[in-house]
Amino acid sequence: MKKRFYAAVLLAGVFSSAGAVRSGSGPENIPASASMVQAAQQEERTVVSPDGATFLKVGLKEGNPYYKAGRYAVGKDGRKEVVMLEESPLGLLTDIGDFSRGMVWRKEETGSRDIRYDLERSKFSRVEKKANTLTIGLANAENKEMAVEFVVEDHNIAFRYYLPKQKETGSVRVLREATGFRFPAKTTTFLTPQSDAMIGWKRTKPSYEEEYKADAPMDEPSQYGHGYTFPGLFHVGEDGWVLVSETGVDSRYCGSRLGDARDGLYMLEFPMDEENNGNGTSEPAFALPGYTPWRTVTLSQGLAPVVETTIPWDVVEPRFTSEHKYKMGRGTWSWILWQDGSINYDDQVRYIDMAAAMGYEYTLVDNWWDNNIGRKRMEELVRYARGKGVELFLWYSSSGYWNDIEQGPINIMHDPITRKKEMRWLRQQGVKGIKVDFFGGDKQETMRLYEAILSDADDHGLMVIFHGCTLPRGWERMYPNYVGSEAVLASENLIFAQKFCDNEAFNATLHPFIRNAVGCMEFGGTFLNKRLNRGNDGGTYRMSTDIFELATAVAFQNPVQNFALAPNNLTEQPKFEIDFMKEIPTVWDEVRFLDGYPGRFVVLARRHGEDWYVAALNAGKETLRLTVELPMLAGREVNHYFDKSDGAPAMERTKVGRNGRFKFTLLPDGGAVLSGR
Ligand code: CA
Repeated sequence: MKKRFYAAVLLAGVFSSAGAVRSGSGPENIPASASMVQAAQQEERTVVSPDGATFLKVGLKEGNPYYKAGRYAVGKDGRKEVVMLEESPLGLLTDIGDFSRGMVWRKEETGSRDIRYDLERSKFSRVEKKANTLTIGLANAENKEMAVEFVVEDHNIAFRYYLPKQKETGSVRVLREATGFRFPAKTTTFLTPQSDAMIGWKRTKPSYEEEYKADAPMDEPSQYGHGYTFPGLFHVGEDGWVLVSETGVDSRYCGSRLGDARDGLYMLEFPMDEENNGNGTSEPAFALPGYTPWRTVTLSQGLAPVVETTIPWDVVEPRFTSEHKYKMGRGTWSWILWQDGSINYDDQVRYIDMAAAMGYEYTLVDNWWDNNIGRKRMEELVRYARGKGVELFLWYSSSGYWNDIEQGPINIMHDPITRKKEMRWLRQQGVKGIKVDFFGGDKQETMRLYEAILSDADDHGLMVIFHGCTLPRGWERMYPNYVGSEAVLASENLIFAQKFCDNEAFNATLHPFIRNAVGCMEFGGTFLNKRLNRGNDGGTYRMSTDIFELATAVAFQNPVQNFALAPNNLTEQPKFEIDFMKEIPTVWDEVRFLDGYPGRFVVLARRHGEDWYVAALNAGKETLRLTVELPMLAGREVNHYFDKSDGAPAMERTKVGRNGRFKFTLLPDGGAVLSGR
C-alpha cells in the first residue's frame, strides 16, 4: 500500500479534482486544473473539512515547509478565517538528509476517505465519518524526497511524514523533527510538564504523573525545563480551543513531547537521553519506505469536539488481529486502600468475594504476590476466583534495568524468554490479564517493549493494563488485548498525600478535556470510604462527596475499570450507591459533552445500549446551579443521584422536562448523575 501511494504521488496528472482543495489566494471556485497551474508560483494549498468549517493550509516559504489551521466563522460580513494554529514548521532532519529546508514542491495529491470502524474500548462503539486528504511531495537540495500526508476531518487534522526508499538506502535514523505548533499570542495553556528522567520513587520517572496548570501563559517555563507531555490543550481566547497530541506510535518510533514555547511556538521533541537509565537511543529509526507517527490537532470554538474527538483512532490501523475474544468489565483491587500488606491469600479472597458480590468480572492482584502468596497458592487462588465467577489480573514490574523497583515480580516482562515462559504459565492457570508497571520512558526501545508485551500476551489470551507508563497513542484500535493505561496522577495519589485529595475535583474536571480525550485512562478510582486507609479511620481525608465519586465512574473512561471500593462499603453505604456501582458499564456506544470548563466543572453523557448516564462534577468553591439540555432523556423518568445540602448522598426518581432541560445543583467538590433510558 505504501508503494502504491508513492507511485501515485509521483505520477503526473493524477491529481484529484476534489473541490476541497483550493489555491491559497485565488478565487474559490476556480477549477482544479487552474489551481495546479498556480502551484509553481504559490505553493500553498488549502484543504477544507467535509463540513466546510475547518481549514488547513500547507505551503513552502523560501524552501521551508509549513502548515497553519483554523476555522471559518460566519458573520454578517460573510465568512472569515479564524487562525487558531499560526504558520508552523514541518520537516525532518535525518542521517540521510535534511528534509526541513531548501525544499521544493514536487507533487501533490488530494482526495477524500471514508473512515469506518468498530471500537469497543473507547468513546464511540462505531465511528463513521469522512475526511479530505492532501499529500504533498517535496524534494531537498540533494533531490531526496519526502512526502507529508494530511487528513482533515470536521474539527480534526492529522499529519505524518513519509520517506520513500532513497536509491540503495533502506533505513533512516531521525535526528530531530522540525515539526512545531505555533499559537496566537492571546493563547493560554492547560499542560502537564515532562519530568526529569530517573527521578522520583525508585527512579521510575518519567511516567506522565505530573500536575496540570490551568490557563497558564505560554511564556512561563515548564517545571523541569523539558517541556510538556502530550496531550496539550490550548485556549485561544474567544476563538476557541486546540488539543494537540500524537497517535499511531508503535515499535517503529519513539513517543514525542512538546518543548517549552518560544514566541508561541512549541517544537516537537524526542525523549531525553537519560530516560531508560541512559540505555537506548533518543533518535528513532525505521525501515524505508516508512512513516512517522501522526500528529493530531483538534480545533473548535466550543469544547464538544475536544471531548468527543476520535482522531487518535481514526488514522491508525490494527497492528494484529486476535483469535481471542476479550471481555471488558469491572474489577476490585485491594492494593489501592489496603496497600502492600493486603497482597496475601486471605485478603485477596475478601476482594474476590467482593467482586462476586458486586457482579464484577475481575479482581486485580497487585505487587508482591509472587513473594507473599507464591506461585503454588496463586494457582489455588485463581481456582477459587473462577469458582466464584471472577477472573484475575496479576501485576508485574516491567523492569529490567531502568529503575530500582524491588516490588515483585521483577525481571520477567522485559525479556522475551522469561516473558513467554511466564505467559504460558498464566494461560495454564486461567489468568485473564496482566498489569505491567514502571516503564523506562518514551524511547523507541520502550515502545518496542510495550508492543512486544502486547503481542506476546495476545498469543496467550491475556489482556494488558499499563501503569507507570506513557500515554497510549491510538492503542485501543491498534492492539486487540490492550485495555488501559495509567499515565495520569491516578487514585493512588489520593492515598499518598492530602494535597491530591484537596485537588481531586480540579484534576477530575481536567481529564475529560485533556488526558482522557485522547486515550483510555486507568484511574482506579471511585472511593466511597471517607478516610483513605485500610480501616477507614486514618490516612488522608477524601474531600469529594460520594456522588462526585459515582460520577467519576461515568466521566472517566477505561474499558476495564478497577474501582477503589472496599469490602466495608457493601454494608456501610446506602444501597442505591452500591446498586449504581453494580450496574455501571465500562464500555460505551457514544459520548456527548454537555457543559463545562477544564478545571472548573464538566457535564457529559455516555450511552451504553439504550441507557444514558449523565455525569456532572464541580471543582468550584461555590455551589453551581446549571440548566443542561438533555434531549436524549426528554420526558423520561431517570434516577437522579445528588448531594443534599450537607453533602450527604441521595437518590430520587424524577422526570426530565419534556423540553429536555434539567437543573443540576452541584456542591463544591460535589457532583450528580442521571441514569435512564
Ligand atoms: Ca502510578
